Amino acid sequence: MKHHEALFIDGDWRPAAGGETIEVVNPADERVIATVPAGSAADVDAAVRAARAALPTWAATPPAARADLLAALRDQLADRAEEIARTVTAELGAPLAFSRTVHAGLPITVCGTYAELARTHAFEETLGTSTVLHEPIGVVGAITPWNYPLHQIVAKVAPALAAGCTVVLKPAEDTPLVAQLFVECVAAAGIPAGVVNLVTGRGPVAGHALAAHDGVDLVSFTGSTAVGRTIGALAGGAVKRVALELGGKSANVILPGADLGRAVAVGVANVMANSGQTCSAWTRMLVHRDQYDEAVELAATAAAKYVPGERIGPLVSARQRDQVVGYLERGVAEGARPVIGGPRTPEGPGFHVHPTVFADVTPEMTIAQEEIFGPVLSILRYEDEDDAVRIANGTVYGLAGAVWAADDATAVAFARRLDTGQVDINGGRFNPLAPFGGYKKSGTGRELGPHGLAEYLQTKSLQF
Ligand code: NAD
Repeated sequence: MKHHEALFIDGDWRPAAGGETIEVVNPADERVIATVPAGSAADVDAAVRAARAALPTWAATPPAARADLLAALRDQLADRAEEIARTVTAELGAPLAFSRTVHAGLPITVCGTYAELARTHAFEETLGTSTVLHEPIGVVGAITPWNYPLHQIVAKVAPALAAGCTVVLKPAEDTPLVAQLFVECVAAAGIPAGVVNLVTGRGPVAGHALAAHDGVDLVSFTGSTAVGRTIGALAGGAVKRVALELGGKSANVILPGADLGRAVAVGVANVMANSGQTCSAWTRMLVHRDQYDEAVELAATAAAKYVPGERIGPLVSARQRDQVVGYLERGVAEGARPVIGGPRTPEGPGFHVHPTVFADVTPEMTIAQEEIFGPVLSILRYEDEDDAVRIANGTVYGLAGAVWAADDATAVAFARRLDTGQVDINGGRFNPLAPFGGYKKSGTGRELGPHGLAEYLQTKSLQF
């Protein structure tokens, strides 16, 4: 697999200041497939300087010209989709079919939406006697996780570029190769030197240096709530903008009258996708007590189809596998009943766990409160609608969710009572223009579509 033993700064691949490296491991066979530089604070400083130097010209580039370059970037991503899919499969472990449709396909769509938005967004508005200019915030520090490695990059870099910002990207340690491929696409698209810079490296070193750098105007972070808290405090102390996309423990609420078979099937597929490593996954299924046993049986049958190594890939790392196994053990210890799967891991190689469905889960159990980030579904019983609302809202998170009912109006009425950033109504489809982001401890800020673009703009009012 092609990779660079260098950082991408000011339009060039450059060696890192120090000699530290990060090994990239294929989670399916546990073999080292590449090494990339572990950038230091000095490398981050060089990248931020390049981004600052490129800012005035890029910010002054007409939105239509930025739109053309974003369209060229989308075309580069489309031309190299197969290579992107294979790279994500190699470093993340996702089955190739899923990598093709989601890991490679979704970023093409999202990049396309920002080419369009750059062209059509009103960067000026009139309010009474004022003209309000929507101007780029400046240099963006983008820190991304490994679970949807290219999507998370594009969901930050594309709106930043559409807004006229320049970027320093620090991708996750486990998945730096697709980030390298991405900046190759940026260069091939003709986006000027310094507008997008890449520093691979470790979170507490390169990530921290980027979040703390005085030359960064906005930190956009996706990852764990623990790290998000640190970054939020750093940014707050320096009075710089910060957007945090953090964890979730989303509820899939099945109301009486819903199509139970479909709601359970879609719910199980949602949790198993990407081996459960999805921040917005509906990891808690809430079912009325009269339908509970039937739902558990349906879920177990659906989950049985996810054979490790075939329809479902490994977890990203040994560390992630161990964390998930820890939660599976905790679930059993606290009295939940695994109807399929459980803590015993499949024979190696690969960081696999058995897809697991827990029945008899109660709201206070650890597995009903904390983000597991593995293929684990907890099924909870509710008595009536008020009880379902209480349980659904009864975690620190509020990222996504689903409601199924006999009709959309009933589902919408219930969705209005949920403290969460997105709700899919009766199996509603993913919309790349809909704002994505959290209530409560799931974060601050929104990504995707026009709301995602607004995060990278600040207003200047001219009074006449
Ligand atoms: P993580 O928080 O450990 O790492 C995320 C990124 O932050 C990585 O690039 C990492 O190198 C960097 N980082 C780590 N420590 C840092 C520090 N001290 N300073 C600066 N940067 C630092 O998370 P992870 O394990 O990579 O990802 C899994 C988590 O991300 C889950 O909790 C998941 O829910 C969350 N997530 C949220 C969303 C969302 O949009 N809300 C999307 C994907 C993942």
